[in-house]
Amino acid sequence: MSHTQHPASTASGKAKVCVIGSCSMDLVVTSSRRPGAGETVLGESFKTVPGGKGANQAVAAARLGANVTMIGRVGDDHLGKAILQNFKDNLVNTDYVEPVTDMESGTAHIILAEGDNSIIVVKAANDHVTPEYVAQAIEVIQNSDIVMIQQEIPEETVAYVSEICAKANVPLLLNPAPARHVSEAVIKNISYITPNEHEASIVFEGMTLEQALRQYPNILFVTEGSNGVRYYDGEQEVVVPTYKVDAVDTTGAGDTFNAAFGVALAEGQSLQDAIRFGNRAASLSVTKFGAQGGMPTRQEVEEQL
Ligand code: ADP
Repeated sequence: MSHTQHPASTASGKAKVCVIGSCSMDLVVTSSRRPGAGETVLGESFKTVPGGKGANQAVAAARLGANVTMIGRVGDDHLGKAILQNFKDNLVNTDYVEPVTDMESGTAHIILAEGDNSIIVVKAANDHVTPEYVAQAIEVIQNSDIVMIQQEIPEETVAYVSEICAKANVPLLLNPAPARHVSEAVIKNISYITPNEHEASIVFEGMTLEQALRQYPNILFVTEGSNGVRYYDGEQEVVVPTYKVDAVDTTGAGDTFNAAFGVALAEGQSLQDAIRFGNRAASLSVTKFGAQGGMPTRQEVEEQL
C-alpha cells in the first residue's frame, strides 16, 4: 500500500492528476415505447453526450481545478473528434488520448422509455488502452500526485498501472466500476478503492461488507448514495454523511465523487476532508441532468462547503 503524501507540486500550485480509463459518446434516444424484436417505433428526441467513466472523472477533476492528463483512446471517427474537443473545452490534457486507426470510438446506446433505460455498450477503442499503450506515458504516471483508474478498460492494464504506481510511490485510486473481481495483488498495490454497495459485493465476493471494510481500513471507501460514504478508520467504523439535495439525475454521481475525493487527496487534504469534498461535489452533481452536465466547478463546491 503506498500512502506517501504527494503534495500538489506543479508550478501553478495545482494538483497533478492522471486519469487512465475509458472515453465514450452516449447516444441517447427517448421514446414512449421500447421496440420489440423486429419492430420499428418513432422516437421523440436524440442527443449525443460525452461519457465514459474515465472521461467523466477527468472532466470533473479539471472543473475542480486540478491539472489533469487523460490516458485513453478514441476511434478515428467523428465521435472521437467530438470527445477530444470536449476534453479541450474542459482543459483536460489530451497528449495521451491517441485515436486507434480503423476503429470506432466507444459508444453507449441508451434508450430511455417507459420510465427506465436500456443500454448497449460497445467498448471499441477502449479495449486498446493496453499496458503497452499506457507504458508510453509512464513518466506522466510517475510524476502525478494521484492516479485515478476504473474498470472500463482491460483488466491487465489496471494490474500494470497498479504495479507502476506502487513502485513509484504514487497513490492510486481505483473506482472498481463496472464491478468485476479485483485480484489480491492489485488490492495490495492500491491506496484507495471506492465501490458502491453493489460493486463491493462483487469485488469482495465471499466476504460481508463489514468484513471487507474491517480488512481494508483507510483503503476501502464504500459509497452509499444519499447516505454518503462508509469506511473504517483503523478499528473505528465511520460514516461521512452526504448533503441533502433535490436529486434529479444521479448519473455520474460516483464519477464526480471519485474525482473530487482524488483531487482533495492529491492536494494533501485529510481523509475526512477529502470525503466531505467528494460528497459535496457529488451531491451538487445530482441536482442537474447528465453525467458531465452536473459536474460542479471548484468555486461552486467551496461556496457550499
Ligand atoms: P454510483 O453513482 O457509483 O452508484 P453512489 O450512488 O453511491 O455511486 O453515489 C456516489 C456518491 O454521490 C455518494 O457517496 C454521495 O456522496 C453522492 N450522492 C449520490 N446520490 C446522492 C443523493 N441523492 N444526494 C446526495 N448525494 C448523493
